[in-house]
Amino acid sequence: MTEHPPLTVPTEAEWDKAVAVLGDHPEAVLACHVNPDGDAIGSMLALAHALMRRGTRVLPSFSEPFDVPASLAGLPGIGLLVPPGQLPAAPSLLVTFDTGSADRLGSLSPLADSAAEVLVIDHHASNTRYGTLHLVDPLAAATAVLVEELVRRLGEPLDADIGACLYAGLVTDTGSFRFAATTPATHELAARLLRTGIRHDLLARQLLDTHPAGWLAMAGAALSRARLEPAGAGGLGLVWTDTRVAELAAAGLAADQAESVIDLVRTAAEAEVAAVCKELPGGGWSVSLRSKGGVDVGAAAVALGGGGHRFAAGFTSTADLDGTMAAVRAAVEAAPQPPP
Ligand code: AMP
Ligand code: MN
Ligand code: MN
Repeated sequence: MTEHPPLTVPTEAEWDKAVAVLGDHPEAVLACHVNPDGDAIGSMLALAHALMRRGTRVLPSFSEPFDVPASLAGLPGIGLLVPPGQLPAAPSLLVTFDTGSADRLGSLSPLADSAAEVLVIDHHASNTRYGTLHLVDPLAAATAVLVEELVRRLGEPLDADIGACLYAGLVTDTGSFRFAATTPATHELAARLLRTGIRHDLLARQLLDTHPAGWLAMAGAALSRARLEPAGAGGLGLVWTDTRVAELAAAGLAADQAESVIDLVRTAAEAEVAAVCKELPGGGWSVSLRSKGGVDVGAAAVALGGGGHRFAAGFTSTADLDGTMAAVRAAVEAAPQPPP
């Protein structure tokens, strides 16, 4: 298993250094993880808005495939995104969002070595502490939580643009405030964001409750072949299925439409752990793992070369489906079972 140094919440010195470095640089390349979600893009665009207001030139981007998920296409500032090929090869400042290791930057990962300063803003338990400056809090419900604090420390008020972007990160990463990482402070942050005047109802519908009609058939096919293994996960139960490139293509669906299948599969009452193996266009599988709290799937994902959080994690497999699931079964079996 990959060893990671112990994590702590950001210190006052780290916050001060982050504020100073953002003040020192007239230009910042911003980058989030490959195949970005609401927290990745939302956190990145929120800081982009705040920095632009201060006169900083911002270049927000993410790895190839440079496809913005339809659910995020309406976020304020989405037009600021710069294709990865147009970024400087060696920026003086790189800020990364929601990205626990440099390889998760995908085609942008060389920037983590070439940039003079690399500020890492993240909440993954598996964060490897790459980069030169860290705002990392594994207890934060979303990277958006850290970005709101940073915006406050930069002296920039929240407005509706920043509010919508941060809300996108918060509502998606907390599963609409249902997951265990949601605290009173999470709701207090949500209240501050709502006070900026955002239409949270329209945002949530677009982020979580909107699919092309063809998604119904694709998800239906994936659900119909879901298998329950009652003896899996040390007897706590494992449920899993797969999504197929050909089925997405047949329904005219973009690749990110497979991401929400795990939220349906994980509802199986008899299984503590859920897995969805998403077939990748170039071969191999991107695997989503979820736990209801009885198994540390983050540890399992790290053991499989991936990462994530204790109860939501993932990894990429180059094995076939049988080999991938054999690895999942073994890693989940060996994963720690946190106390209730
Ligand atoms: P997902 O299942 O794709 O929604 O991801 C769940 C969590 O695991 C997120 O925090 C991801 O950032 C993380 N994750 C997913 N895939 C990987 C991977 N291949 N390597 C590292 N972390 C991952
Ligand atoms: Mn993410
Ligand atoms: Mn996140």
